[in-house]
Amino acid sequence: MAVLMDGKKLAEKLCSEVAEAAGKLARRPCLAAVLVGTDPASQIYVRNKERDCQKCGIDSRRYDRDEAVSEAELLSLIADLNADDTVDGILVQLPLPEHICERNVINAIDPDKDVDAFHPINVGKMVTGQAHLLPCTPAGIMEMLREYGISPDGKHCVIVGRSNIVGRPMGMLMLNADATVTYCHRRTRDLAALTRMADILIVAAGCPRLITGDMVRSGAVVIDVAMNRDSETGRFFGDVCFDEVEPKAAFITPVPGGVGPMTRAQLMRNILEASRSRQS
Ligand code: NAD
Repeated sequence: MAVLMDGKKLAEKLCSEVAEAAGKLARRPCLAAVLVGTDPASQIYVRNKERDCQKCGIDSRRYDRDEAVSEAELLSLIADLNADDTVDGILVQLPLPEHICERNVINAIDPDKDVDAFHPINVGKMVTGQAHLLPCTPAGIMEMLREYGISPDGKHCVIVGRSNIVGRPMGMLMLNADATVTYCHRRTRDLAALTRMADILIVAAGCPRLITGDMVRSGAVVIDVAMNRDSETGRFFGDVCFDEVEPKAAFITPVPGGVGPMTRAQLMRNILEASRSRQS
């Protein structure tokens, strides 16, 4: 029986720490959340982030733009938010409509206000171990490992997925924490041979039931990042066959209630951090 890593509980603790620290600042931290279009999932994500801000003593302002907004108009909004001294963090909810280049928009955000930590300057700082804003999902996972007393030092960490948002930065944080890192992705041959070697297995493929019991070694730490939605029931589930893997693992995250809440808590920590350094 594995220890269930309770991301929800830990996230609540982190959020109350943020609220306490935010209350000590001269000015309340402020997030500007930009949402383009009416995608229902994006609407929910932004609403949740606004609620988290409220709980953490952080102001949030929402900038809704029509699906047809031009890239130039969006870049002009970002420039205004960069110049606004009362805004500490800027978050552009992804994905953006196809006619807008996400990279151009991310690159336009002031790196000191880039609370998602997607800007190339923040990516470079993370890779070289100098970051003060860290990508939310990987940093939330590192925090969860710390909380459960799991040190990556010398461990073999196998990551399934190499996206810029999750897999890639996850490997960098693990490497910075002295793990030996293996990346797997869609083109990887014999995925099972590699996942079986993992002391710490982090799965972020978005591929339901990808990781079966025979792909995990006994005593592994298994982190399931995925949020796959059952279109009939509306329920979320991960990439890991929980019923098969849980009896073999030493630690495992549930979906939901594992990585998701930690990602949200880390965003709050980033907004606090951005505000603190802008107020100092
Ligand atoms: P993505 O689609 O950008 O990347 C998926 C990666 O997985 C790719 O690198 C791809 O090569 C790899 N992959 C896909 N199928 C594979 C397979 N069969 N074998 C090996 N590798 C495979 O996705 P993403 O943005 O990184 O998100 C991944 C998952 O994590 C999604 O389910 C997403 O919803 C979830 N997610 C959760 C959180 C959270 O807070 N819990 C945050 C971000 C993303």
